[in-house]
Amino acid sequence: MTEKLFDIDSYIKEFTCKVISLYTKDDKLYIETDRTAFFPEGGGQTSDIGKLGCANVENVQNIDGKIYHFVENSEENVKFFTIGKEIKGEICWKKRFSDMQQHSGEHIFSGIVHSLFGYDNVGFHLGSETVTLDFNGVLTKEDMCKVELLVNKAVWANSEVKVFFPSDEELALIDYRSKKEIDGQVRLVEFPGVDICACCAPHVKNTGEIGIIQVVSFEKYKGGTRVSILCGERALADIRHKLDENHSVSVLMSAKEKETAQAVERIKKEKESLDYEIVGLKKEILSLKLASIKADKRIIIFDSSLEGKMLQDYALSLMERAEEFVCCFCGEKGQYRYCMVSDKLDPLPYAKALNEAFTGKGGGRNGIVQGTVSGEEDEIREFLTSPSV
Ligand SMILES: [Zn+2]
Repeated sequence: MTEKLFDIDSYIKEFTCKVISLYTKDDKLYIETDRTAFFPEGGGQTSDIGKLGCANVENVQNIDGKIYHFVENSEENVKFFTIGKEIKGEICWKKRFSDMQQHSGEHIFSGIVHSLFGYDNVGFHLGSETVTLDFNGVLTKEDMCKVELLVNKAVWANSEVKVFFPSDEELALIDYRSKKEIDGQVRLVEFPGVDICACCAPHVKNTGEIGIIQVVSFEKYKGGTRVSILCGERALADIRHKLDENHSVSVLMSAKEKETAQAVERIKKEKESLDYEIVGLKKEILSLKLASIKADKRIIIFDSSLEGKMLQDYALSLMERAEEFVCCFCGEKGQYRYCMVSDKLDPLPYAKALNEAFTGKGGGRNGIVQGTVSGEEDEIREFLTSPSV
C-alpha cells in the first residue's frame, strides 16, 4: 500500500521512495512506489505530473486500490526502474498549486451556494482550461454576484484550511458535504465558517493563497446550473486577456474602456441602417436596369448583384418580354446560379441541355427552373442563343 504524502502535506514537492511493483502495458511503464506525493486522478481532478527518477510522469492513476505512475515504456526506463530501487520524485509544482487554488476555490464556492440556497454540487470538473461546477438548482445573475462577493470575502479572510481524519464517532456528529458514500477512513477538508466536505485532494493551507475566485460564466444545465469559475493565477490570466481585448476594442472604437459595449452597439445599429439602405439602393438599380432591357426571343442576363431570391424575382419580371424564355445568372469565376423562366413554353428541356453542356444541376416546374452551372459567360451566352438549342 502506497503512503499518500499529499494526504498529510500538500506542499511536499520532492520526496524519495522505493519501487514496489511495476509492469508494462502498451507504450507505458506502470510504477508503484511505497510512498508518493503524486496525486492520482480522481474526484473530477486530473493527476499530478512531474518526474520520477529519470522519467517524466505523464499520468497517475488509482488502479484496483493501487497508485501507479505512468512513464514511457522506453528501453532506458525499463532498465532504470527495478523493484526495491530507491528513487527521487518531484511533482510539477506549477500545475499542483494551480489545481489546489481551483479545488479549494470550488469547495468555498460550493459551501456558500449550499448554505445560501441549499443546492448540492452534483458535478465537478477541473480540467486544464476550465473548472466547472454543476448545482442541482437554478442560480440567477443576482445570486451569482452575491456568491462571487462572499466567496472572495472568504478568500480575503485568509483562514487556515483544516484537513483531518475523524473517527466514526466524531464523524457522526459532523455535518459535512459529501458527493458519495465513502468506504473506509473519511478525510475531511474544513474551510472554517464556510464549508466542511469529504475530499481526497490536496488543498491550500490558507484561503488567501487562492488569490481570487472569478465566475467566468454560468448557464442552465439539466434543470440546475453549470458554473465555470477560475481561481488564482488562472483567473488573473483570464482577466488580463479580457482586459487586453477590451482595450483593443476601445482603441478601435475610440471609446472609453468602460463604455466599449455602448460603442459596439452604436456601430451595430449604424451598420443595420446602412445594410437597409444598401438593399433599397440595390433594388432601385435593378429596377433601372430592368427598364432598359428590351424584348427579345431569349433574354440572357448575367448580374452578380442578383443575390438570393432576387435572381428569380428578376427573371419573372422579364418573363413577358421574352418570346421563349428568360435565363438570369448570378455568380463569378465561372460558377453561376441560374433561374430560367417562361410563360410560353416548358423551360425544363432547355435547362437540361444547359446542365449537360456546363456540368450543371438543377430542376423545377411550372415554368421555373433553378440550378447551377460551371463555365464562361461568353460560352454560356453563345450556347443559349444558338438556334440548335
Ligand atoms: Zn474536493
